[in-house]
Formats: sequence, C-alpha cells, structure tokens
Amino acid sequence: MIDLKKLQVWFITGTQDLYGEETLKQVAIHAEEVAKSLNNNEKISVSVVFKPIVKNTDEIFETLQSANTDKNCIGVVTWMHTFSPAKMWIRGLNVLQKPLLHLHTQFNRDIPWNTIDMDFMNLNQSAHGDREFGFMVTRMRKDRKVVVGHWEDEEVASQIDTWCRAAAGWHDWQGAKFVRFGDNMRYVAVTDGDKVEAEMKFGFSVNTYGIGDLVAIINQIDEEAIQNLLKEYEETYEIADDLKAGGARHSSVYEAAKIELGLRKFLEDGNFKGFSDTFEDLHGMIQLPGIAAQRLMADGYGFAGEGDWKTAALVRACKVMGAGLAGGNAFMEDYTYHFDPANSMVLGSHMLEVDASLAKGKASLEVHPLGIGGKADPARLVFNVAGGDALNASLIDMGNRFRLLVNEVKAVEAEYDLPNLPVARVLWKPLPDMKTGCAAWIYAGGAHHTAYSQNLTTEHLSDFANIAGIEYINIGEDTKINQFRNELQWNDNFYK
Ligand code: MN
Repeated sequence: MIDLKKLQVWFITGTQDLYGEETLKQVAIHAEEVAKSLNNNEKISVSVVFKPIVKNTDEIFETLQSANTDKNCIGVVTWMHTFSPAKMWIRGLNVLQKPLLHLHTQFNRDIPWNTIDMDFMNLNQSAHGDREFGFMVTRMRKDRKVVVGHWEDEEVASQIDTWCRAAAGWHDWQGAKFVRFGDNMRYVAVTDGDKVEAEMKFGFSVNTYGIGDLVAIINQIDEEAIQNLLKEYEETYEIADDLKAGGARHSSVYEAAKIELGLRKFLEDGNFKGFSDTFEDLHGMIQLPGIAAQRLMADGYGFAGEGDWKTAALVRACKVMGAGLAGGNAFMEDYTYHFDPANSMVLGSHMLEVDASLAKGKASLEVHPLGIGGKADPARLVFNVAGGDALNASLIDMGNRFRLLVNEVKAVEAEYDLPNLPVARVLWKPLPDMKTGCAAWIYAGGAHHTAYSQNLTTEHLSDFANIAGIEYINIGEDTKINQFRNELQWNDNFYK
C-alpha cells in the first residue's frame, strides 16, 4: 500500500555564471554524481533525482516552482558546490512550498594536500557557498533541515533518509481524507480539536459519515467474501473451536469478518487513508470493529478510537514514515501502571484496537464482552508486543497551535501471561524515568491516545514537525522537569 521509491526528492545544485563554461561543466558532472550516488544508496528510501544546475534568479525560480507542482516531488535537496550569491534565491525560496533539506557537503572528501591549487579552490567552495545560502534561508525564516558531512558518509545518507521519510509522511497528508464515523466520544477533550485549522495547517481533511452509511455497505457484503475471510482468519490466528464454523460462538467472528469487509470497501471506495469510530455511535452495527480495525491498521490505514481523528492521521503519517522498516506503527493508549519502584512501567493497550502489525508471534483471535457500549461481544486479536526502543507521539490542539509531543520509551517483554486480559498489550518504561516521563507528558498536555512507533526515531518526528511548521516537544533521556516546564512556558510566549 505504501511505496516510497516512487516518490522523488529533487537534487538542486546552486552556482553562478561567473565561473565560466569549463568550471560549470565540472560542477554539473559532480552534482550528477552526488545525486546518483544518493539515489543508489540503499539507506535512502525515496528516489533522488538530479536536476540541472541553477545559475541565476530565473533558473532557481523555475526549478523550485516546478518542484511545487510536480506530483511525485516530495521535497528538494540543495547544495552549493560553488558560490551561489543568495539574493538569487529569494524569489525561488519565496514560492517554495515543498520541504527543504540543505546538504552541506563537498565533492572531495579530503584536501589533496600535494596538488591543491587555486583552480581546485575555485571549484570546491561549499564551505563558504553553503554559508551564503544558509544565511538567506535563515534570513527568510524558512524551516529546513541542514545535514553536514561527505555525501558518501553512511551517517549522512541515514540523516537524509530520515528527512525523506518525514517529507513522505507530509506528502501523504496533502489532500488525504480521513473518515470519522460518528462524532467525538462524549465530553472527551483531548481527542477533539479544530478540524478547519488542521486542514489549513496539515493539508488533510476530516469529515463525518453517518454510521448508517457504513452499515449499508456492511450489509451488502456477499457470502463468498465472508467465507474466504473467515478461512484466512483460521489460517492466520490461533482460534478456539467454538469460534470456528459450526461452533457455538461462531456468529461473533462471522459478524466481525463482515464488518472488516464492509469497512475496507468503504475506505477503498472513498479513497480514505484512515478512520475513527466511537462505541457510543454504532447504530445498526452488531459489534464495535475490533479485529477489523486491527487488520486495517496493519495494512497501513490510520486509526484511532473514540472519534480521535488527530491520532488517526498521525498513525497514518507514522506508517508512511516507517514504511519498509522493521517494526510497526500503531494506535496506542496508556492504560494502566505498574508502580513498583524497582520496576515501574506502563501497560499500553486499547479496548480492542491494538494494531496487528505489532504482534510478536501468532495472535489469538478471541471474543469477549466489551464491558461498555452495550453491543454484542466483539472479536479481537490478542497478542504480546516485543521489547526494544520505541516512542509515543501525541498530536494535540493547544488552541493557538498544534503541538507534537514525543516520549522515548523502552518497551519490555511481558514476564507474565495475563490470562484474563482479553486485549493485546505492550509494556514500556518511559524515558528518562517513570516519574519524570509521566509528569512531563502531563505538564505538556499529552493525550492518553498516541501513535506508538517501533521504528521511527525522535529525528523522524522532529523533522516531520518542522516540515509541518508546528511545535515539537521531546521527552527523553535528558529531560529535567524544571527545564522542561520552562521550555513549555517559553514556547507559549513564542507562539503568542
Ligand atoms: Mn481510547
């Protein structure tokens, strides 16, 4: 569903006419070599496309303007091999709407000590050419990412890829459509927010559809498709005999399969990238979508429960950013705590909808009562989640701005079976420690719903926030509460 390689970043090299034909020919050859090397680097998940070198105001404007309108271009990488007087960039940068990465590199890695002469110096001027360019971007208050190092350095490639992935997530949001079945869960604050502002800021739209529109599609799903999906369930998951065909409780699984097919059709027909629902508005539905939401998320759809469209959109963006990497990106909720001072941790889960892409080992398909909502017992996948580095991200509406809050965590393997807990679960320890991590999260107004990521880093998320032009707050190893509270206050002032 998500193919990053068909997306492009344009590699644009700035220079000027002053150097004469011979030097400019050399600049172009070098620039193409750098672009091709990045394109062929397996670390970089998108395509890097060489663009003819730009030498004056008009060429810069034309190139950046066509980047804006090119459907597959998700961002531009600039590099000044030679000096490119930056007033030439004003017009182009003024109209640039795609994300910008400034690669501060140099064609040669080493100074050729024995042969270096003024010709060499005239060609290899990134050290000051990129500073001139950097001044103009800063002077124009434009956000961009600066990556420093030789272009064959693998760390440089990784950093470029991180930004490319963030740009891909951003590109995916532009024009994206998310469905909200029913409204927000009654009285809940943090899941609500300004959808008009979100569309202006983020480029995606969120619109509501009556649950009846979905029920109508669910009721039209044909029997053969349902039987095929039930077969797939039996082949893929552990499943108790009484839930299989002919079993006493088979009808619950049958209904769940029908709901999955209906939801999938609704999302495909409407070209939606994600959805949210609420157990308070299921009129005409037999049960709350459990396994359906879990499997749709695993296939790349954004989702969050209780009308939480912000988290649904963020989960989708994380799935795009993490495409092809080991590990999953998922809707999550901080559910309950283990406050043992020697081993404090959070149990993350949801009523049903923990993303199947997180499953470690074979999941078990189970049917249990939901406890709230008054509907039939829903089918869900139950599984454990692997330990390792992870993070929780929350997108919140502060009224005058959106804030992306990220807490780095260490997930730990479950030591106990939790035989009576009928939902998938994750255990993690927030950084820098349980008390500081939780306090900082609450001071920052972070939601109970998050996007939980096993394969994205804080750099992906902060690049993403920078591209979106929103506030980014990180809780990690170095977080100290007093400093953190100051940061929140300073930011409040900044955004006033
Ligand atoms: Mn919830």
